[in-house]
Amino acid sequence: MDILSLDSSHIWHPFTQAATAAPPIAIRSGLGASLFTADGRELVDLISSWWVTLHGHAEPAIAAAIAQQAQCLEQVIFADFTHEPAARLAARLAGLLPGGLERVFFSDDGSTSVEVALKLAVQYWHNRGQPERRKILAFEGGYHGDTFGAMAAGQGSGFYQPFRTMLFEVGLLPYPATWAGDLDVETKEAASLAALDAWLDRHRPETAALIVEPLVQGAGGMRMCRPVFLQRLAARLRQAGVLVIFDEVMTGFGRTGARFACLKAGVAPDLICLSKGLTGGFLPLSATVCGAEIYDAFLGGGFERAFAHGHSFTANPLGCAAALASLDLLERPETAARIAALEAGHSTRLAALVERSQHLVRPRLCGTIAAVDWAEGGEAGYTAAIGPKLKRFFLERGLLIRPLGPVLYLLPPFCLSEDQLDRAYQAIEEAAATLS
Ligand SMILES: *Cc1c(COP(=O)(O)O)cnc(C)c1O
Repeated sequence: MDILSLDSSHIWHPFTQAATAAPPIAIRSGLGASLFTADGRELVDLISSWWVTLHGHAEPAIAAAIAQQAQCLEQVIFADFTHEPAARLAARLAGLLPGGLERVFFSDDGSTSVEVALKLAVQYWHNRGQPERRKILAFEGGYHGDTFGAMAAGQGSGFYQPFRTMLFEVGLLPYPATWAGDLDVETKEAASLAALDAWLDRHRPETAALIVEPLVQGAGGMRMCRPVFLQRLAARLRQAGVLVIFDEVMTGFGRTGARFACLKAGVAPDLICLSKGLTGGFLPLSATVCGAEIYDAFLGGGFERAFAHGHSFTANPLGCAAALASLDLLERPETAARIAALEAGHSTRLAALVERSQHLVRPRLCGTIAAVDWAEGGEAGYTAAIGPKLKRFFLERGLLIRPLGPVLYLLPPFCLSEDQLDRAYQAIEEAAATLS
C-alpha cells in the first residue's frame, strides 16, 4: 500500500494549496515530543501538532484511559442520558476555572465551542427580553475557527474572503500586540480601549458580547497582550453589561504558564471556550463553560427558552476519559515544574537569539509559547514567502516548526527536553544566518 499515492488521489488536506504544496509526510508513530515518519525519520514536534498535544505523543496513561473506557462505554446519546466520565470532567473543570464558571456544555472542537458561546450569549439576551442585544465585538487579528459564526467573529484574521458577504457584522477593535522592550504598549492599549468606549457609546444597548483570545492571539501570529489590558477591557464591559467570552481553545491547560490564561490575567470571563489541549491532544472534544446567571436564563418557559443545540457526539465518553487522564497529568507537580522550566528555557534562549540575529525582531514569551518575527516579512501576513522556506529548512533538520507567515514560534508539548529546545533555537539562529 502506497500511502502517498492513495493520499494524493483521494485526500483533501486542511489549510493547503494542493497545487503547490509539497507532498504530505506520512507519520507512523509518535512518542514523547517526537514523531516518526513512515520511512523511519524522527521529527521533533515543536508545535504540539496544531497546538493540541500536551504531555507528549502516545502518552501511555491517556492511551490506557481511552482503551479502558472503550471496553466499557464508547458512546451514548447525551440528551436524556449522562455518564460518569462527563459528570466527573464537568465537575473537575468547574473546580479548576475561576469562581462562577461551573456549567459545562460539551461539543466537538474549538470552532463548535465558539459557536456555542456566541449562540448562548445571543440567546441569553433574547431570553432576558432584550433581543436587540445581538452585536458581537471582536479583535483585529483574532481567530476563532472555521465554521460560519466562528468565521464572523474571526473576520479580523483575514482568512475568509469568499464568504465575507455571508458573515454577520462584527465590531472589530484594534489589538494592542506587544513584545519585550516595546515602548508603545501603553499607547496601543489606550487606543484599543478608546475604540471600545466609542463603540459602547453608540452600540451599548445592542451589544451582546465581546470575544477575545486572552493573552495570546494564536493563528493571528502569536500576538501577545498584557494582563492589565484584559483587566481594563473586562471592567469596561462589565460596567456596560456586555458579556465577556474568553476563547481559550489554544491558551488553556498550561500553555501560558498558568492553568488557564484567565487565571494569569486575573479576569473571570462570563463564558470560556476550551478545546485543543482538553484531551491532552488525543481526541476531539470541547467545552463551553458559563456561570449560573447564564444557565438560569434558559430555565422554564417551555422548550423555546431552552438551548436547542447539540452534536451527535456531545460529551463522547472516550474524549471525557482522555481529558480526565490528561488533567491528572497536568495537576502533577512534575508537570508544573516542566512548564516553568520551558518558560525559563525560552526566556534565556530567546533573548540570546534576538541579540545575535538582527533578522529576528519583536521577541515575545508567554509561558510555554515563544515567538519572534522575521524582520523582512515584506508582504507580511500568513502568505509571506519566507514561511514555506523556513518550514522546509527546519524539516530538513528533523524539526517540526511551522511559521505563521513571517512569525516563527515554538509551542511544544510539556515533555520537550532541554536538549530538544536547544536544537530548535540553534536551527532558528542558523535559518536567520542562511536564509536572510
Ligand atoms: C484552533 C482555534 C480555534 C478552532 O478550533 P478547531 O478545533 O480548529 O475548530 C478556535 N479558537 C482558537 C483560539 C484557536 O486557536
